[in-house]
Amino acid sequence: MATGSSPLIERLGTVWFVGAGPGAPDLITVRGSRLLAEAGAILYTGSLVAETVLQWARPDCEIADSKSMDHEQVVSWLIEQAHRHQTVVRLQTGDPTLYGVLAELAQPLESAGIPIGIVPGVSSAMASAAAAGECLTLPEVTQTVIFTRLAERTQMPGRESLGELARHGCTLCIFLSIDRIEAVVEQLLAAGWSADAPVVVVYQATWPDERILRAPLTEIAARCRAAKIERQAMILVSPTLGARRWGKLRHSKLYDPSFPRRFRQAGG
Ligand code: SAH
Repeated sequence: MATGSSPLIERLGTVWFVGAGPGAPDLITVRGSRLLAEAGAILYTGSLVAETVLQWARPDCEIADSKSMDHEQVVSWLIEQAHRHQTVVRLQTGDPTLYGVLAELAQPLESAGIPIGIVPGVSSAMASAAAAGECLTLPEVTQTVIFTRLAERTQMPGRESLGELARHGCTLCIFLSIDRIEAVVEQLLAAGWSADAPVVVVYQATWPDERILRAPLTEIAARCRAAKIERQAMILVSPTLGARRWGKLRHSKLYDPSFPRRFRQAGG
């Protein structure tokens, strides 16, 4: 399987699926950056993962961009590298368990006897909330967050349509849907969200060209179109949005002196 002059290694290498984080190079985890520094080969997605993340790679590391590869080519590249290097990294945007191809890639690798490992990353949902200075949960307002997307080429189970999920009134982090923001708005209104419900759209969270738009539900689509935000954006919809500017908030029970915690006596 090995090609070129690299020697065959005795034991097959591990392919690590590493979350690169949302874009800023210092938002990869310490574990992820250590693996990048160790890796003999790294496969990354050029359009999604900031190339600066690769600053940790060894000078002799084999680095490839999977942008122009199909599934079979990605699988065979990773298998080939695992025969040549102890540590191979597949760098994925955000967190590798969300809207990636982890399972599809892990299957053929494991069938080929190659061990895999997964290193979590900062999802763009978390990075977008942080960039906008928002909380996704708030005591007595909502304690639930749904990560979802509009159905498109990727089929979704019927019970998970945005309209169905939006009926819960909890926080929604909507991925992969900014190009159809009008459909998002339509489904939220049909689910009972009010016309003036606040919406935050974060474009390229943590990148140098990050932009944050805030508008009521019925105005957000026009604002996004006017700003030409049509890709790489997170739509946050939540009854918690803007909470920092509200009057006095009910405090979390966690810090209520009458609420006993494991390491703190009630009243302490
Ligand atoms: N695994 C990734 C999601 C990949 S799907 C994660 O955990 O973040 C790609 C979608 O993620 C994009 O369509 C967009 O909705 C969102 N996204 C990725 N990076 C982003 C960023 N820096 N800012 C805002 N949204 C982003």
